[in-house]
Amino acid sequence: MLDTVIVGGGLSGLALAHGLQQQGRTFALYEARDRLGGRILTQYDGDAALDLGPAWFWPGTQPRMARMVAALGLAAFPQHDQGQVLRLHDPEKVPEVYSTDGIHHGAQRLVGGMARLVQGLASRLPGHAVKLAHELIAVVKQRNHVELHFRSGDGITQVMARRVVLAVPPRLLEEAVRFDPPLEGMLCQRMRATQTWMANQAKVLVTFLSPFWRAAGLAGNAFVEHEQAMLYEVFDACDVVGEQAALGGFIALTPELRTSFQTGMPLLIESQLTQLFGGEADQGVQHIRDWANERYTCSTLDRVPSAMRPLYDDASLRRSFWDATLYFGGSETAGYAAGYLEGALEAGERVVYLLTHSSGQAQASFAN
Ligand SMILES: Cc1cc2nc3c(=O)[nH]c(=O)nc-3n(C[C@H](O)[C@H](O)[C@H](O)COP(=O)(O)OP(=O)(O)OC[C@H]3O[C@@H](n4cnc5c(N)ncnc54)[C@H](O)[C@@H]3O)c2cc1C
Repeated sequence: MLDTVIVGGGLSGLALAHGLQQQGRTFALYEARDRLGGRILTQYDGDAALDLGPAWFWPGTQPRMARMVAALGLAAFPQHDQGQVLRLHDPEKVPEVYSTDGIHHGAQRLVGGMARLVQGLASRLPGHAVKLAHELIAVVKQRNHVELHFRSGDGITQVMARRVVLAVPPRLLEEAVRFDPPLEGMLCQRMRATQTWMANQAKVLVTFLSPFWRAAGLAGNAFVEHEQAMLYEVFDACDVVGEQAALGGFIALTPELRTSFQTGMPLLIESQLTQLFGGEADQGVQHIRDWANERYTCSTLDRVPSAMRPLYDDASLRRSFWDATLYFGGSETAGYAAGYLEGALEAGERVVYLLTHSSGQAQASFAN
């Protein structure tokens, strides 16, 4: 029987695995996708590293990310933020200069993309402890252990563990995993109420031969605020030296509209960028990732657009369940910076602490 099984190989699950490894504990990590990283996804186009998931961290307010980047020996660089910021609030007009100040508040990116974080952590784990393409479908409490059922290929694998950590967004667990005995009603309600941050978003990265907008005094930052907007926010996504030129943007359409306009979307994105940055912007190559179509990220509830960033102030998911054999991890359960990469690390840290200090006092300190 395994001591600890972690389910979910996103940043939170990986950081937790790394933390247990450092404490000399044994574990196995099961991941549904055939890759690690979860919402972290860097696509490589030649020498360009395109972050189609998270790109930024803020070392000024995110100490765990700063420490992790340093500990893994990764190189970070400031998000390009110099130049004019544009705003377009009427589709019939030209964009106006909204500001000449930076808007990214000290955000940093990783050389080689955010996937370097995943690669750095994964390379420190024993290969045999990581199982890809194992989708958790059921968690069953037995007298002295927990039984996990995974769908893998055409078969079902059963695994027994003394303790289980589910580093998977709570909404996905509530929707897709069977718990036996069923989790209590109030807990399920809280899991449903915990929005998976950014899960319903789609991001586009457009590569160019040169960062022509910089030469024109533009930052690459732009906001489009009218009803026909295709991209609601655009930013510079070049590499550290500005040789691999790229713009990034968040697509303004809802998941449903993105599905209906799928074929026409690249042309509409190109036309939006041209209106903002001029004719050269129609020479780009687009890379789009629609996270709402990812079954291991976006639950049915997450597809419904929400106007505000949630508070994530519910501590009930931070304690242990089933006589300290079942724990929830994942950024959405964090007590600090929930939803962000920093929150994924904070949640991993919390679970390492709970697993290694399984006293009632330790449990209580996180449940308040
Ligand atoms: C477009 C986008 C942009 C973002 N930008 C930023 C940013 O700039 N800065 C920032 O701090 N944050 C950003 N975020 C949020 C950031 O990506 C998350 O906070 C972080 O990646 C969460 O890590 P996690 O491990 O908690 O969850 P996830 O990365 O979601 O990991 C969960 C893992 O569980 C796996 N899984 C799911 N279901 C099952 C199952 N049934 N069985 C087994 N495994 C399963 C998934 O495949 C996944 O690997 C962004 C997110 C998106 C989508």
